[in-house]
Amino acid sequence: MHPKIGQVYTRSRNGKAEVVRVVAIADEWVEFRYLHGPERAMRLGIGRCKAKNFASAGWKPTEEREDYSHLDGATRFDTFQVLDTHGKPILRCSAKRAAFYLRKKLAREVSSGVLQFNDPQIEERIRTMSVEGFTEFFLEVKNDRCVSCGATSDLTRHHVLPKRHKKNVPQPWRSCLSNVLFVCGACHRKYEETPEPEVVPTADWQAYVRAWRDHFFNVLQPKCVPAGWDIISVKNLEALSSAECGARNAE
Ligand SMILES: [Zn+2]
Repeated sequence: MHPKIGQVYTRSRNGKAEVVRVVAIADEWVEFRYLHGPERAMRLGIGRCKAKNFASAGWKPTEEREDYSHLDGATRFDTFQVLDTHGKPILRCSAKRAAFYLRKKLAREVSSGVLQFNDPQIEERIRTMSVEGFTEFFLEVKNDRCVSCGATSDLTRHHVLPKRHKKNVPQPWRSCLSNVLFVCGACHRKYEETPEPEVVPTADWQAYVRAWRDHFFNVLQPKCVPAGWDIISVKNLEALSSAECGARNAE
């Protein structure tokens, strides 16, 4: 990718977006003006780098806008719709999981962002994980708004069971959690300001993770939780024979 004068580029650094406009290219150097970014960069106003390093520094072309704050916060990961072998949409999955399905030749890409399973066995396997079959939750887009207030910008990934406590849930049950919900910066701060509950890990991992779910609900009273969400995403736990589970949150 060769930088162009006048074009706007963005990259993400430590979860915050930087947006620049290329203003000059001379002697293999690219000079750009900051349009959005951390205070330090905005104060600097101007930056430069070697033209040959521009792409590897993470800059990607973006549309010119009035405001770039929607680029801050967590990356909004693309999700894929997945069709069963008959062509009926049955679930939505993360890009990471889609790559897994494609790599293992379990599915093929039938159009942009849409996969179709190749083998009825895999969809049968996922179906048995869930007592209710494919509920509406499977098709929900889960990463486009704050689950608490509905805001669509400044989103961060919130772990309902804090990451550092995940070790308290043994495998394979850890893989059965739908643990990531998206919240905006303001709601996240509100959550962080609330003292954490004393949740004692017990042998009953289900009660343990539900206590964290209840704490999250008590603090934020979320109004936009994806339909059908629960922290335990696999309903039919007895059907689970390995740590692999197909119906996870968009992680
Ligand atoms: Zn919010």
